[in-house]
Amino acid sequence: TLNGGKIWITNGGIADVFTVFAKTPMAAGGAQQDKISAFLVERSFKGFSSGKPEEKLGIHGSNTTALNFDNIAVPVENMLGQMGKGFKIAMEILNTGRLGLASGCVGGCKALLTKAAEHAKNRKQFGKAIGQFEMIQEKIARMAADTYAADSMVYLTTALADRKDIDYSLESAACKVFVSDALWRVVNEAMQIAGGIGYSREYPYEQAMRDARINLIFEGTNEILRAFLALAGMEGPGEYLKKIGKALRDPIKGFGLLTGYAASKVKDTVAHDHLTGVHPKLHDAVERFNESAKGLHQATEQALIKHGKGIILKQFDQRRLADVVIDTYAMVAVIARVDTLLKKNHAGVEQDLLLANTFVEDAWRRARRNLRQMDKNLDGERKKIAEMIYDLNGYRWSTNV
Ligand SMILES: Cc1cc2nc3c(=O)[nH]c(=O)nc-3n(C[C@H](O)[C@H](O)[C@H](O)COP(=O)(O)OP(=O)(O)OC[C@H]3O[C@@H](n4cnc5c(N)ncnc54)[C@H](O)[C@@H]3O)c2cc1C
Repeated sequence: TLNGGKIWITNGGIADVFTVFAKTPMAAGGAQQDKISAFLVERSFKGFSSGKPEEKLGIHGSNTTALNFDNIAVPVENMLGQMGKGFKIAMEILNTGRLGLASGCVGGCKALLTKAAEHAKNRKQFGKAIGQFEMIQEKIARMAADTYAADSMVYLTTALADRKDIDYSLESAACKVFVSDALWRVVNEAMQIAGGIGYSREYPYEQAMRDARINLIFEGTNEILRAFLALAGMEGPGEYLKKIGKALRDPIKGFGLLTGYAASKVKDTVAHDHLTGVHPKLHDAVERFNESAKGLHQATEQALIKHGKGIILKQFDQRRLADVVIDTYAMVAVIARVDTLLKKNHAGVEQDLLLANTFVEDAWRRARRNLRQMDKNLDGERKKIAEMIYDLNGYRWSTNV
């Protein structure tokens, strides 16, 4: 019998079949323990109901409702997989879901870049096209390099998914975070380049902005995914990740496994296969990648020595480590792509090379800054400020000049 509910369900008002993850009581060593199992629940089942459609900021084409389960008798044959093994199924669905989301975001980046470039070329101010001003050129160049990296990450990760035999949960999480953040930057800059018309409902930018925003929130918020990336998916699927989870619970015993993990995951599963014998034109980019991967390895090791099990709560460090993981993976993705093109003597590869080298240089600088801030930072001050603001219930300095 299924009881409970879930808010925020996409297609909740129109779907006929739902994948539901619910706690199921199971015997474990004499005691009872709740474990997650997966079920197929049908709209026609007695006790099923869905709420009214949510009024959302964006993605109005998508129906979102709450679901209620009131004493639903779910037939045994509607259980997906084995009893108590639902968490793994949920994680696998999320891996593909995050990739799908990232692919959609890449499409958004490409469309917005095209629109922004068109506007930059056509809109004239101060006697010339606004696209000739360097502040606009900088925006277009950053949007293009971000889009190129996002595109490359999605291609690489979908190729990993197609292999069927490897756990790509970290790669798909890295993709989701990078690409949804990239789309948000791109939509922001496209709106800025559009100027006043960007703010009008008659042009596509405001809808793009409303629609893009959700990608940082659903399929795992970007904060939760950064924690997951930094802690290497403690509770995630796959035997290796389970070992990491155990190692994190007992950091001394699992030390060797943990210290190299974040770097080796990127370096071995992806880079080892693809980065050997890279084309000489990518020499500098490969050096940047190696330096970042090495820095990540050392920083992970030092964070574990410093915090031990306490790393689980050290989110300032987790955020930085996750961003280095993401940037390092993005570097691999663009390098692998351009390397292939160079080796095939692909027409126009110099354009790819320009985008790739520019992106890698920027990503390396970000990674270097994040790694330096592992030791020297304002974490203590920021923590104090946040706590002070909570105590004061907000901003209190308007009138005390
Ligand atoms: C339009 C829409 C469609 C959706 N569709 C579905 C669906 O089909 N199926 C489904 O199951 N769900 C769906 N969701 C739910 C969605 O996945 C969640 O809203 C999302 O995961 C965030 O959870 P929450 O809303 O409870 O936010 P909260 O967990 O309350 O988070 C609030 C903020 O706190 C941060 N935060 C929370 N915990 C931590 C932590 N430990 N460390 C640091 N920061 C933290 C979050 O990152 C976020 O910024 C949908 C949501 C929306 C808005």
